[in-house]
Amino acid sequence: SASPIVANADDFSGKSPHVAVLPGAGMGHLTPALRLAAMLSSRGCLVTLIAVKPTVSAAESTTISNFFSTYPHINRLDFEILPRKPPSSTNDDPFFIQFEAISRSVVHLLKPLLLSSSPPLSAIFSDFTVSMTLTPILEELCIPNYVLSITCARFLSLLAYLPHLINENSPKFGESDDYVHIPGLSPLPLSTIPPPFFNPTLFFTSFAISNALFLPKAKGILVNTFERFEPDTLAALNNGRVLSNLPPVHPIGPLEPYKLEKGEQLSWLDDQSVISVVYVCFGNRTAMSKDQIRELGDGLERSGCPFLWVLKSSKVDKEDTEEIEDLLGDSFLERIKNRGIVVKAWVNQEQILAHPAIGGFVSHAGWNSVMEAARYGVPLLAWPLHGDQRVISEVVENAGFGVWVRDWGWGGERVVKGEEIGEKVKQLMSDEKLRNRAMEVEEEARKACQDANGSSEKALMGIIETLRLAE
Ligand code: UDP
Ligand code: UDP
Ligand code: UDP
Repeated sequence: SASPIVANADDFSGKSPHVAVLPGAGMGHLTPALRLAAMLSSRGCLVTLIAVKPTVSAAESTTISNFFSTYPHINRLDFEILPRKPPSSTNDDPFFIQFEAISRSVVHLLKPLLLSSSPPLSAIFSDFTVSMTLTPILEELCIPNYVLSITCARFLSLLAYLPHLINENSPKFGESDDYVHIPGLSPLPLSTIPPPFFNPTLFFTSFAISNALFLPKAKGILVNTFERFEPDTLAALNNGRVLSNLPPVHPIGPLEPYKLEKGEQLSWLDDQSVISVVYVCFGNRTAMSKDQIRELGDGLERSGCPFLWVLKSSKVDKEDTEEIEDLLGDSFLERIKNRGIVVKAWVNQEQILAHPAIGGFVSHAGWNSVMEAARYGVPLLAWPLHGDQRVISEVVENAGFGVWVRDWGWGGERVVKGEEIGEKVKQLMSDEKLRNRAMEVEEEARKACQDANGSSEKALMGIIETLRLAE
């Protein structure tokens, strides 16, 4: 990584840009924002992290307080948001309810905080989900906005183009063809589009469109991806083919992990042989049905592979009170006790993926998870369940970095049987070709992040340089 120049308020020289980072709701949005904050800080910026209060999950509040104690030179700006609206027929997802509340609070509550920040802000790096409300304020205050995209370049393109798809109402989006055509991109199979996108009255969709309309006003868009992983899509975005009015799209990934305490699972992993263990996790907000959880357990048992499984039975961690024994049964736990561990708590995924014992990753294909796996060369069995995850699974597959069983359905559509899961896990763990390709991806990811010459490192340093020159 770049030379660790630590900026703090005391040695602020007038040349270090002062930047604020504003994360979105959920660990999938918070984690990349924290990583970016730490990266900007170690590259000579004075950084203020905007801490949204209250958070939805316990994981978010714990993570934020640990982050500030690990990085005492990063300024903390508490942003107390307006009360969340109760669930409605078009928005019943606790994380989306939080998106709405943050967005609404930006208008009156964040503006004075930004105005009074000292030294004045050189730029904000903000989550996509605040674009609509933050952009007008920043224009008024003359502060450039960089949007941090937490999804892949391909899904970002879909988001950016979504207002056009839904406006071009004849023929109706989703009813005319088996593919969605976005200029410059290979056609997106209709089956990969998040189903809510076909209904513009849903909060998820109308909110995405509203925010997408403000992407052209950003100074730049940062994507947690790297040149070699999505070369064609990045080229299409940057040569104006997707949309002629988008700002530069900067691939700056895989984002550097920031300092974390050692996770508990590492000592168990130390006792396992190299590349023998399959790691199973579906991100921070995806819960499976109880039937599916049991089948997955059965599948892992049948695979014969050692496994580390992070189990979630509820979308919000605070509500996840069910015991492992009740979900899986004592006899299951007894049978697998020398071979697998099941965790029902927050783990340090990035450290797990970095461990030499891990040989494969059964994942919902959340984009952070994919980039973390790329960083450590762990191939994926993608099991996409919601949102951007099918588009991501396609990207993963095209990169040769993982496999995706297309007929497993969207989350909750069907119960995939243990027999089938076990078979696929076995294949994942014994696929030499896939493993070799994963090692190449790891090497490409490493090169992208290399000092000075790496494409991602250059992109980030370029932005910081622009801010420095504008001082
Ligand atoms: N994660 C983790 N421990 C867990 C579950 C998730 O560290 O027990 C992290 C994971 O490493 C990733 C993020 O949470 O950085 C999840 O983001 P992703 O985009 O993969 O999926 P999402 O949770 O947004 O669906
Ligand atoms: N997104 C969206 N509409 C929304 C909220 C989010 O299109 O109302 C975007 C979001 O920024 C992300 C992708 O859609 O890039 C997937 O969103 P999802 O909520 O499924 O992922 P998560 O928030 O769990 O990471
Ligand atoms: N979602 C998610 N994780 C979940 C449940 C939902 O990320 O565990 C997100 C996902 O982006 C999805 C949106 O919430 O597109 C709406 O989900 P819902 O289940 O309400 O609708 P569906 O996708 O099943 O049509």
